[in-house]
Amino acid sequence: MFDIPTIFPLLFILCTRVWSLQTDSFEEFYNYVESKSNYENQYVLPKNNRDLFETSDATIHVLGSYDFIIVGGGSAGSVLASRLSEIKKWKILLLEAGGDETAFSDIPGYGPNLRSMNWGYSTIPQKTCCLGMQNQQCDYTRGKVLGGSSGTNALVYARGSYADFDGWQALGNSGWSYQDVLPYFKKSEHIDISGYDVGYHGVGGPLHVNYTVPQSIIADTFIEACRQKGLEEVDYNGRNQMGVSKIQFNINFNKRVSASRALIDPIKGSRKNLNIKLNTLVVKILVKDTVAYGVEYIEAGKRYIVKAKKEVLLSAGSINSPQLLLLSGLGPKAELSKLGIRVKNNLPAVGKHLKDHPFYINLFFRTNLTAMNPTLRENLHRYLMGEAPLTRYNGLELIAFINTTNHTQSPPDIEYILTPPPLNLPPHIYNTNDDYSHVFQGYNTTTDFTTGVILLKPKSEGSVSLRTNSMLEFPLIDVRYFSDPEGRDIETMYQGIKYFLSFTETPAFKKINATLISTHPGCEELKKNPVDRDYWYCAIRHATSTAYHPVGTTRMGNSLQNSVVNNECIVHNMKKLRVVDAGVLPDIVRGHTNAVTNMIAEKISDVIKTHYGGK
Ligand SMILES: Cc1cc2nc3c(=O)[nH]c(=O)nc-3n(C[C@H](O)[C@H](O)[C@H](O)COP(=O)(O)OP(=O)(O)OC[C@H]3O[C@@H](n4cnc5c(N)ncnc54)[C@H](O)[C@@H]3O)c2cc1C
Repeated sequence: MFDIPTIFPLLFILCTRVWSLQTDSFEEFYNYVESKSNYENQYVLPKNNRDLFETSDATIHVLGSYDFIIVGGGSAGSVLASRLSEIKKWKILLLEAGGDETAFSDIPGYGPNLRSMNWGYSTIPQKTCCLGMQNQQCDYTRGKVLGGSSGTNALVYARGSYADFDGWQALGNSGWSYQDVLPYFKKSEHIDISGYDVGYHGVGGPLHVNYTVPQSIIADTFIEACRQKGLEEVDYNGRNQMGVSKIQFNINFNKRVSASRALIDPIKGSRKNLNIKLNTLVVKILVKDTVAYGVEYIEAGKRYIVKAKKEVLLSAGSINSPQLLLLSGLGPKAELSKLGIRVKNNLPAVGKHLKDHPFYINLFFRTNLTAMNPTLRENLHRYLMGEAPLTRYNGLELIAFINTTNHTQSPPDIEYILTPPPLNLPPHIYNTNDDYSHVFQGYNTTTDFTTGVILLKPKSEGSVSLRTNSMLEFPLIDVRYFSDPEGRDIETMYQGIKYFLSFTETPAFKKINATLISTHPGCEELKKNPVDRDYWYCAIRHATSTAYHPVGTTRMGNSLQNSVVNNECIVHNMKKLRVVDAGVLPDIVRGHTNAVTNMIAEKISDVIKTHYGGK
């Protein structure tokens, strides 16, 4: 049809058109990312919920009823909404305070920047930790978006140790041993990597698990140093947690896999029995004679009541679920009475037993390597091809689990997490005071690396309590890291840091001349030698923040005094009310908390289906 002289110009026009279309859409994407990034960096965090949810109208509109009302569309709430709406005859309402995720929030590298999807919490001033933060208050980011904290988190997929779940069972929570929970971890997972321990992972579940590529200039050296210290490369979610590994991330090719992207997106619009309301703040659980019969919420400045025929499922997270219980009269009698809240059920443990992973953030080393520091344009091109650094939250790359007494014997008590150069330290992260911000600004982004040190099994407990009797005010978050009377937590953290400092003696680290360069304003005069205990205790209390893993504030157990829900997540002495989120962990896991929260919600979905004949 076409002769050669005709086809060449046509091909040329076609190719340039395709190329220019691609360039146009890349430019559009680039401009979008740049403007979103500027917007987020300038976004001023709220100080309370009034701006967004205050009402001028006192009228309460009474709506109809649903079988299940789910409060909070985060990690757990998304699982519940997806699994329960599989039963076509059940009508489900999901109420979420935040809005939807975006193409910007899908980029893992921008996780720390998502300020408009953050509730805006920080801890109350601390005495035993957070001393290097403004007003001694640590940042306490929680996700306010469909997907919840999984919509803004670091995406590290780390389930914890078999010993954690066997420990839950030993505490009296039957049905929660490692053998009991493993099938639910597998059900929630879709592993995309090769070389994993067969029998421990799932294929076909909603949460993709992937490594990131390419590796940084320091990855091989770090792994080699670990080997030289006796730590093997392992699948830390498999047979043996102890050792070093590339991080298994919840990403799909290049994008964040939040619970809502994984579980809600595929059914949005197609399940007529699932109603999702965004930008909707639940302010109270309605309770009559210890039966939960509905919730009150605010949407677009108006108040509504909606009823639950079967159950209210509280999945507002470890901070907001106890806050809502307390506001609804379910909590410690004396505390509630003091705020004028009518006590419906005296539950002393609501908001108590807050456990979290203290995260020591200031272990920086200078090397003789220099990483390239690509432009945003280059990084976005790489992102579109599925390549780091934007496929990693804050650059995180490798992870290692050790035990400070016998370095390779399970279970671990310390986690190391590597951020290689080029470093990207967003200005707002950690809420550091001027002295510590100055220290962080002094690090060289292309030659320095940092190893975060995480205390995996803390003894110290904090609390969540009410500031006032209104959901329009933030709760009080008191983390109290390193406050255990025996001082075990700070000593374990110190031992973890000390052990990592000994890595500088390995041939691998010597080759890159890895040299500790961290300083700790307020502590330097204490330093008599490189591993001086007084110095490091001071450093730890100043430069420890959170790994953002609060649990236990509505914990599972048998005792009315010490726990809030039973082993089916039903609130003690209540009917038609469960809490299903990270708050119910009987004790913190030696991993991160997203995988375990998904697992719990998967398991409780099955419990609910069995109970109401939905299976
Ligand atoms: C910055 C950050 C980094 C993290 N990194 C990791 C990591 O790398 N790996 C990991 O495993 N875990 C990580 N976590 C922790 C993990 O994301 C959480 O443990 C997990 O998402 C908790 O799930 P959840 O369902 O309990 O609560 P969330 O996912 O927080 O969900 C609670 C939901 O309820 C909504 N809500 C709250 N109150 C109300 C109300 N009154 N009305 C309506 N809706 C309400 C919230 O907006 C939110 O969407 C991180 C968390 C953060 C914040």
